[in-house]
Amino acid sequence: MLTDREKERYERHLSLSGFGTKGQVALRDASALCVGAGGLGSPAALYLAAAGIGRLGLVDDDTVELSNLQRQILHDERFIGKQKVQSASNRLTSLNSDVSLQIHHERLDENNVTDLFRQYDVIIDGSDNFPTRFLVADAAWLLGKPAVAGAIHQFEGQLTVFDPALRSPCYRCLLPEPPPPGTVPT
Ligand SMILES: [Zn+2]
Repeated sequence: MLTDREKERYERHLSLSGFGTKGQVALRDASALCVGAGGLGSPAALYLAAAGIGRLGLVDDDTVELSNLQRQILHDERFIGKQKVQSASNRLTSLNSDVSLQIHHERLDENNVTDLFRQYDVIIDGSDNFPTRFLVADAAWLLGKPAVAGAIHQFEGQLTVFDPALRSPCYRCLLPEPPPPGTVPT
């Protein structure tokens, strides 16, 4: 059941046909890990927190720079030079203090990916390079976790969901191997 405060906060969800209390409770019981707290991770994390996800993880080893602020809307001028995960945590906590935030100030790699992904229901790929994209895609697929991949280039964007439970194609069905470095824009 939802508390009175939750009923007020999520009023627009509760009146949304096909979502309602059942959807809100399911969202509160769910967890997602956002890989990257940059241009893609920012809107994903902000909307998940605003919408009332129960637990949200962020993995990023970067620091905030002035040139990030034009699109990475999690961050602001006070956090230039500081960890992106700290900046994100500050912003997301003030947006919705009911969300359990877990920040991981580390670079995702072969050694930590399995332990991290196991802790979450859904993986969101907001990374900006192909090695990480392939790592996220392969690890999520092997662990049976749905992965939501966003990508942008100039004026175009792509959003794809790879879900082993739905027997969807995997990332490597689309892109069998990482392109050689330098052949594709970041
Ligand atoms: Zn495949």
